[in-house]
Amino acid sequence: MSHELRVKAISQVTDRTPLPPKVPARLEAIWATDVFTLSKMQACLPKDVFKSLQNTIKTSGKLDISVAGVVAAAMKDWAISKGALYYAHIFYPLTNATAEKHDGFISVQSDGSVISEFTGKVLVQGEPDGSSFPNGGLRATNAARGYTAWDVTSPAYVMETDNGVTLCIPTVFVSWTGEALDKKTPLLRSNAAMNKAATRVLKLLGYTDIATVNSSCGAEQEYFLVDAHFAHNRPDLLLTGRTLFGKSPAKGQQFDDHYFGAIPERVQVFMQDVEEKLYRLGIPAKTRHNEVAPGQFEIAPFFEAANVASDHQQLIMTILKATAKKHGFVCLLHEKPFAGVNGSGKHVNWSVGNPTQGNLLDPGDTPHKNLQFLLFCGAVIRGVHRYGSLLRAVVATASNDHRLGANEAPPAIISVYLGTQLEEVFEQIAAGEVKDSAHGGFMDLGVDTLPIFIKDPGDRNRTSPFAFTGNRFEFRAVGSGQSVSGPLVAMNTILADSLTWTADKLEAQLNQGIELSAAVFTILKEVMNEHRAVIFGGDGYSEEWHKLAEERGLPNLRTTADALPVLKDAAIEELFERTGVLTPVELESRFDVYAEQYVQMIGVEAKLVISMAKTIIYPAAMRYLSDLASTIANLSGIGITIDKETVEKVASLSQSLMENVSKLSSALSLHDFESAEAHMQYCAQTIRPLMDKVREHVDALEGEIADDLWPLPTYQEMLFVK
Ligand code: ADP
Ligand code: MG
Repeated sequence: MSHELRVKAISQVTDRTPLPPKVPARLEAIWATDVFTLSKMQACLPKDVFKSLQNTIKTSGKLDISVAGVVAAAMKDWAISKGALYYAHIFYPLTNATAEKHDGFISVQSDGSVISEFTGKVLVQGEPDGSSFPNGGLRATNAARGYTAWDVTSPAYVMETDNGVTLCIPTVFVSWTGEALDKKTPLLRSNAAMNKAATRVLKLLGYTDIATVNSSCGAEQEYFLVDAHFAHNRPDLLLTGRTLFGKSPAKGQQFDDHYFGAIPERVQVFMQDVEEKLYRLGIPAKTRHNEVAPGQFEIAPFFEAANVASDHQQLIMTILKATAKKHGFVCLLHEKPFAGVNGSGKHVNWSVGNPTQGNLLDPGDTPHKNLQFLLFCGAVIRGVHRYGSLLRAVVATASNDHRLGANEAPPAIISVYLGTQLEEVFEQIAAGEVKDSAHGGFMDLGVDTLPIFIKDPGDRNRTSPFAFTGNRFEFRAVGSGQSVSGPLVAMNTILADSLTWTADKLEAQLNQGIELSAAVFTILKEVMNEHRAVIFGGDGYSEEWHKLAEERGLPNLRTTADALPVLKDAAIEELFERTGVLTPVELESRFDVYAEQYVQMIGVEAKLVISMAKTIIYPAAMRYLSDLASTIANLSGIGITIDKETVEKVASLSQSLMENVSKLSSALSLHDFESAEAHMQYCAQTIRPLMDKVREHVDALEGEIADDLWPLPTYQEMLFVK
C-alpha cells in the first residue's frame, strides 16, 4: 500500500465509466423463471407423483422415495433446457456461508458414448467430501463421512453465472451417524416441533380443521458498498471485512441526510441488477433504501416460509456480493465495517401460522381471535424470558460484538417490546384477579371485554432487540453477515417449548371442566406473574435500563465470550433435547465450532493489526518525521525557527504505537488455555482492548500526517466517493 496507489484509486473511481442503467424487465416475464416451481412440476409430472410431492411439501411429511426418480428426470430435462450441464447439492455448513458440490449430468456408457443422467438416488442423496467443514469434533469421533439429502420443501433452481448454468438442489448436511452438520437440519426440526405444539394448542382452542403450522421469516438485510478500487487497497477490508484503522471524517451520519435519501444512481443500477436476479430466482425482493450511514443500504424481501426464506437469504447475500463485483463495488456484509458510523444488522421478522387459522400472531379484530393471539403471544413472552440468553447466544459472533451493546444496535440485554396497547392488555389480564376479585373474580374479564386491536400499534421502539410489530416479532440483534437460521431455530424452539407448556396447562384445566376463556386467562396471568420482567418499552440504550434490567434479573451478556457458553447450560441442552431440535452432542459441537470461529477471527484481525501498523503506518509516520526534521533543519540554517509541536507529537505517537504493537504481539503468543471459554475471554478482555489501543494511535497519526503521505484510502473516500 502506498500513497500513489491511494491517489490512483481515487482517480480510478472518479474516472470510471459506470455500467449503463438497464430498462428493468417486466416482473411477470422474469418471475421465478430460474426455479423448478410447483406449477412447472405440475405441468410435467404424472398426476400421482405430483400429488405425492405436493403433499410432502404442504405437510412437511415423509417423502415417498419412489417418486424421486420421476421428479429427478423431469428436473434434469428442465435444467438442461435452461442450459445446465452440472447439478449441485447446496448446503449450509456452520460457517454462515453456502456450500456447493458440483457434479456433471454426464454418464459414460460402455461403448464410450455419453448421455445425460440424473437419477432419483443422486437427487435425494449426495456425499460431498465434507471433511474440511467445521463439525466441532463430531466427525472425528464418528466418521469422516457427510451426506447431503434433498430438502423437498425448498425449490430447486438454476444458477446462471458467467461460468455456466448449474442446477441447484437445497439439501441438509448430516454426518454418517445422522448428526446435523448444518444450519438447515435444526431449522426443519424446530419448525416441526413448533408445528406439533401449536397444533395441540389450536385443538384445545376448539379447532378441528388445522393445517400444518409453519414459521415465517422476512429478513431486512443491511449492507455497505465501497468502490472496489478503495477496498483493494485496504488489506483489512479484504481479509476481515472491516476497517481495523480509520479516522472518522469530519462529516459522518450526524445530519441524517443519507437515511431514505435519494439512492445514488450507480447504486440504483446495482440494486436493479440484484433485484432482477432475485426475481428470476423467485425471491420476492420488496424494499430497498439508503440506510443511516453513508454508503449503507438495505434490501428486504417479502416474507416467506422460514425454511425457504432462510435459503433465499443465503442467496441474497451471495448475489449481493457477486453483483457488486460486476458493478465495481465490494459489498460488505460485516456488522461493523466502519467505526463511528452505524453498523449493519439483519432484522429477522418472524411469525407462525397456517392456511386454516392464518397468522397466529395477528391480533385480528375479533375477540375470539384475540384469545388465540394472546395465548401465542404469551407463549413468546414466556419463552423469551426463560431463554433470552439463548437468543443472545445465537447472535454472538466476533463481528456482531461491535454492534450489540455499542449504543446503536439493540442492547445485548434481551427484552420484549409489546407496544403500549398490548402491554396494557397484558397488564390488565395480570391485574384481573386482584382487581376484580371484589366483584366476582377474574372470570368477569371474559373474552367479550377484550379490546379490539388496531392492527398497527402506531408507535415503534427502535431500541428493543425483540419487538412486536403488529402481527409478528422483529428480532433485531441478528448480524448482517449471519445466516438467519440460528435465530429462527432459537425462536421456533422456545416457542415450541412454551406452547407445549401452554397446551399441558390448558388441557389440565379443560379436563377439570373449567371454561375455555377462564382457563386461558389463568395461563396468561401466570405468564405475566412469572415473566413480566422481560417486557420493556423504554429506551434500551439508556443507563437506567441497564440498571433496571439487572434488578429484574435479565442477563447482560456483553461479548461473545460471555454469550456463547450459554449453549453449554444444562437448561439449554434440555430445551433442545426435549423439543428434538438438537441432541446434546450436536449442541456441543456447535459450541465448539462457534467458539473456534470467534477465537480465530480475533486472531486473524490481531495479526493484521500488527502487520499493517508495522509495514504500512509506521513507515508513513517515519517518512513524515524525516520530511519535517529536514525542513526544520533547513529552515534553522537560514535563521528561521519553527514550532516543534507536530514533530514531537508524531514522534511520540509513533513510539507509543510500536510499544502497543509489541504488547499485542506478545499477548498473541500465549497459547495455553484450559478451555475454549478461557480462550474466548482472553480474546475479549486482553486481545481486543490491545487492538483498540493500537488503533487509537493509528487514527491519531492519520490526523497528523501529511495527507500526501497517507497510504490507506480514508473513511472520507470510502464512504463518500461513489
Ligand atoms: P421495517 O423496516 O419497517 O421494519 P420492512 O418493510 O423493511 O419493515 O420489513 C418488514 C419485513 O417483515 C418484510 O420482510 C415483511 O415481509 C416482513 N413481514 C411482514 N409480515 C410478516 C409475518 N407475518 N411474518 C414474517 N415476516 C413478516
Ligand atoms: Mg427496514
